[in-house]
Amino acid sequence: MGLLVQTTCRLCSTVAQQIDGPLMSGYRPRCVDCGEARLVTPDRLGEDAEPSAWERQVTVLAGTCSCGGWFTVDAPLRCPHCRSSEVEVEVEGTAD
Ligand SMILES: [Zn+2]
Ligand SMILES: [Zn+2]
Repeated sequence: MGLLVQTTCRLCSTVAQQIDGPLMSGYRPRCVDCGEARLVTPDRLGEDAEPSAWERQVTVLAGTCSCGGWFTVDAPLRCPHCRSSEVEVEVEGTAD
């Protein structure tokens, strides 16, 4: 179950709604550099994936971001406008 969050940037005041965490439709790793999320569907993960291994698998399956960064499930939420991770996060609900 993912969370629907609202981020407010401390630097440029951009307010954005983002989804944090895995969804029914798959994992949503974020780019470590720009914060862009990419969906990785569970059927692409090996059935025998250990919990300790799937985070690495998600990173491999998500590939490389258009900015050149890579994706991880624990990358910080970022402002979609200026890419700062200095954002206030307010949970608005759940997403699935
Ligand atoms: Zn990126
Ligand atoms: Zn910003």
